[in-house]
Amino acid sequence: MGTVSSGNGTSEATILVVEDEQAIAEALITRLAAEGFRTAHAADGPSAVDAALDSLPDLMILDLNLPGFDGLEVCRRVHATRRVPVIMLTARSDETDLLVGLGMGADDYLTKPFSMKELTARVRAVLRRANEPAAAASGALRIDAARRTAEFHGEAVHLTPTEFDLLRALHAANGAVLSRLQLLDKVWGYRDGSVARTVDSHIRSIRRKTADEVVRTVHGVGYSLGEVGQQMHVGLVVDR
Ligand code: CA
Repeated sequence: MGTVSSGNGTSEATILVVEDEQAIAEALITRLAAEGFRTAHAADGPSAVDAALDSLPDLMILDLNLPGFDGLEVCRRVHATRRVPVIMLTARSDETDLLVGLGMGADDYLTKPFSMKELTARVRAVLRRANEPAAAASGALRIDAARRTAEFHGEAVHLTPTEFDLLRALHAANGAVLSRLQLLDKVWGYRDGSVARTVDSHIRSIRRKTADEVVRTVHGVGYSLGEVGQQMHVGLVVDR
């Protein structure tokens, strides 16, 4: 059309469809194109990762069961480099339950079979949310360092003292990435590589209680605050 994006976040968005079943892929692409989206297609895990990192889509519709490696692995590899919103397609609702339980980072899930109307509604909703990350994240997480209390979206969250100290340490790092050993040193007061994995389980617990985006995994390096964690409000009134 040659018009400038109106800023509603959906016009001219590029959607990467990752689906190995050709009939489903074609139906998705046809419908999305009719709705005014640009589309790209990949049919296996490795080419999905390449396409996501090369064509910089605004959203991925990602089938869970793919040749090569599965949608979970696609998500991990892409999100290690770039935050792309994901709608995960699953074959069964218990697969969706499992993935939600793992906190694996998809923005939404659809179980097959689904209607194209439902799909496009979800696409628009996820794109809308993705376009207002700052507003959504701003102040979502509040911790009170003096009272050792935390709130996520206005709801009390019960963090353990260790989880609390981990968040404080990441916050104090000012966006820098901290290794597991550095976190052990700051939070537990010692450096012992044999227990470095302990850090991982506490980070998983923080994410479960709040959101994946609170803490970012930097693969092979360590952790930093994620997009929600960076907006965290920290009360430090009588902190010592
Ligand atoms: Ca499949």
